[in-house]
Amino acid sequence: MRLPLLATAALLSVLSTPAPAQEAPRWSLAIHGGAGVIERNSLSPEQDAAYRAALNTALDAGSAVLARGGSAMDAIEAAIRVMEDDPLFNAGRGAVFTAEGRNELDAAVMDGSDLSAGAVAGLTTTRHPITAARAVKERSPHVMLIGEGADAFAASQGIEQVDPSFFFTERRWQGLVKALTDQGQPVPPRLAGAPSPDQTAALPAPPLNERKFGTVGAVALDSQGRLAAGTSTGGMTAKRWGRVGDVPVIGAGTYASNADGCAVSATGAGEYFIRSTVARDICQRTASGASVQAAAEAEIAEVGAIGGDGGVIVMGANGSPAFAMNTSGMYRGSVASTQSPRVAIYADEDR
Ligand code: ASP
Repeated sequence: MRLPLLATAALLSVLSTPAPAQEAPRWSLAIHGGAGVIERNSLSPEQDAAYRAALNTALDAGSAVLARGGSAMDAIEAAIRVMEDDPLFNAGRGAVFTAEGRNELDAAVMDGSDLSAGAVAGLTTTRHPITAARAVKERSPHVMLIGEGADAFAASQGIEQVDPSFFFTERRWQGLVKALTDQGQPVPPRLAGAPSPDQTAALPAPPLNERKFGTVGAVALDSQGRLAAGTSTGGMTAKRWGRVGDVPVIGAGTYASNADGCAVSATGAGEYFIRSTVARDICQRTASGASVQAAAEAEIAEVGAIGGDGGVIVMGANGSPAFAMNTSGMYRGSVASTQSPRVAIYADEDR
């Protein structure tokens, strides 16, 4: 087809006009709810919808803070508290059980603007471990507190304490029973104060053969340019001997640095994430000029090379989020001043 000269010129000018540069967001938030073997056929439509709704609720909580000019630290705490209270996730209520039949909770936060950080491990009575981690950062001279001392510190700061049975869910209990039975290990008595199996029988049956992690995390950039990261978890099913994973280890599961232009929260087989110092490594990659997406993917490839499964979310200084995983899924989502909330579950979904 021959176009008249003027039309051709107009078309060429349209084609050669650069697309308007994507406006950089004033604020941005990304979250995850754990990575793992999450296949499309392993979740019922109702379960799929429930996870997406839960992720959206967490995004709403965090974005409300950022939209009114709040800090990245307030936003990640708000988003994570929502997921800690949601039994779908392995953090706070809904955490996995230790081999002794307890819930031992780990969490960490880091503020990239001043490199301040706080972490807790092995909590058993603090409803919101992420808030305890933040209190360690802001109201103690330390970075990491563990066990009874950490719960006592949280209580002394007025942070809500609950009976350990608050964290109990039938789904995670059955997950423990199965894991211990498969390993030929004794099953401990049901947690004191936990509802009886009859009381929980009415709840929808969860998939029991799931192999996923379910830790929660958030990374954010606020309107003053500050980056922050936070992560919270019950750890791994049937963990024993006071095992602590990567989540509360600053530089492994959690890290943020404005100087490096990066905030990271990880989820996966913690032992590998500790050995790879995943979160700090990603920030070193961005500090050396890599994009957040390239840094995240390169690091996950390295974790995979030593046998670790999992994923990361990363926030860049310009507000662009990155997601990378070597598992078939990761519950995840993002929202920004320039983008409405988006959530995804399976690896091949565009987040
Ligand atoms: N990374 C956590 C841990 O090893 C587990 C998870 O991500 O779910 O404790």
